[in-house]
Amino acid sequence: MNNLFKKKFFLILIQFFTLISFLFLIYISIGITTKDPAFAKILRNTNLANLIVWSYWWPMIIAISILFGRFWCSICPMELVVFIGSKIGFKRKANKFLKSHWLITLFYFLILIVGIHTFQIHRIPQLMAIYLIFLFIFAFVSSLIWEKRTFCTYICPVGHLLGFYSLISFKKLSVKDKNICENCKSKDCINKENYYKFNGRSCTSEIYPEKIKNGRNCILCGQCHKSCKKDNIVIKNKNLSNYSFSNIKLKWSEISFFIMLSGFVIYEVLTVWKPSKKILMIIPNYLNNYLNLDKNLFGTLKAMVLFIIIPLIFYIIFVFLKKFVAKEENWKKAFSQLVIAILPITAGMHLLKAILKTTSRIPYWEFVFSDIEGVKTAGLIIENQKFLNKEILSTIFPYINFFSILLIISSLFLSLIIVRKQKHKNKLSKIFTIIAVLIYFSVFFISLIIW
Ligand code: SF4
Ligand code: SF4
Ligand code: SF4
Repeated sequence: MNNLFKKKFFLILIQFFTLISFLFLIYISIGITTKDPAFAKILRNTNLANLIVWSYWWPMIIAISILFGRFWCSICPMELVVFIGSKIGFKRKANKFLKSHWLITLFYFLILIVGIHTFQIHRIPQLMAIYLIFLFIFAFVSSLIWEKRTFCTYICPVGHLLGFYSLISFKKLSVKDKNICENCKSKDCINKENYYKFNGRSCTSEIYPEKIKNGRNCILCGQCHKSCKKDNIVIKNKNLSNYSFSNIKLKWSEISFFIMLSGFVIYEVLTVWKPSKKILMIIPNYLNNYLNLDKNLFGTLKAMVLFIIIPLIFYIIFVFLKKFVAKEENWKKAFSQLVIAILPITAGMHLLKAILKTTSRIPYWEFVFSDIEGVKTAGLIIENQKFLNKEILSTIFPYINFFSILLIISSLFLSLIIVRKQKHKNKLSKIFTIIAVLIYFSVFFISLIIW
């Protein structure tokens, strides 16, 4: 991996390839739409672009970031667009608001609650194409305004999400020998003169490789590999047991981002099975009995309740206990401790959802290449003239069931190790964090066991 990262054109060529692939996916999905929600449910799996983006690309980048770190960012076409824009643009410095990361959280809110759960951009190919075009334009325009990699560092919610998960991944970028850095005069990895080089750029993500701690903000672009003439940069294994989780300081915007994320992951996993979905939907359905909203607005209401209100109540209860009963001195610290403790379970269950999604879509591959737009196939499936061969799923699923139990138990194990390593004010504060972790774990564990 390190040798490949040092090669001059390796990552850039892959970035070009992914850029062309995304343009192709946009091209084959832009004209395909429907107003029928039942049809959209099938079409999302029969349209090649939709199938790739939501059932393979997205789950795969989540899985890779949890296991190995932000390797998607290494080949992300958006970064290429951002580089070109920032090279020719106005190069303004990021302002206070951008640096607060609130724009990332807002962007995530808009994609998740408005885009996906209100307008169903994940089910209608045309909306997905518009979303991707919007992302490319937004990335380019923002990079024309702001210097360096401002879009990646302060705007992109995808990178932010992958950054959270990369905290528990097995790989990170580091320097081989800190002494070499201390004696290095040119400091090419952070030298301003290298910011806009096509190859061998200095870090435009505000990172000094020598001081890198957890690698959350490093997008593994490999540029510092090439800029360091002393060959002192390396991607290496991370030893999680040596890793201190006590000094991770989160901003309020990041805490809010994670609260939404944890609600979303509960929703994603529990809606796989009808009984747990029924229980999860009790409150949104109850509220909708009074409000009588249309389908789109009901999606907004459901997302607001399940991704914001309920998770927020959960976190607030435990932060109150930590603050007022255990006398933890700082609100932000109390929230951060809970977030970091719950992170492995959230990541583990997001990984499970990624596996469930990619495997459950296997039967659709039989049809997608003969009808890449997927409209005809979706129609035939609805009319029962085409049948999905689910044999392979019945072979795979027992293994997945077994794996899911292993995954949730190992995620709990990692969460408890983190709690042990965190510096709590006292035992009581630690106990409240453990109880929060166990409750969060039980929500998934009970559903998985019943399943
Ligand atoms: S931060 Fe976002 S735009 Fe930047 S490389 Fe990562 S995914 Fe792509
Ligand atoms: S990483 Fe390389 S270029 Fe950067 S300070 Fe260390 S030795 Fe110098
Ligand atoms: S430290 Fe900076 S230049 Fe090096 S890989 Fe990470 S983001 Fe890229």
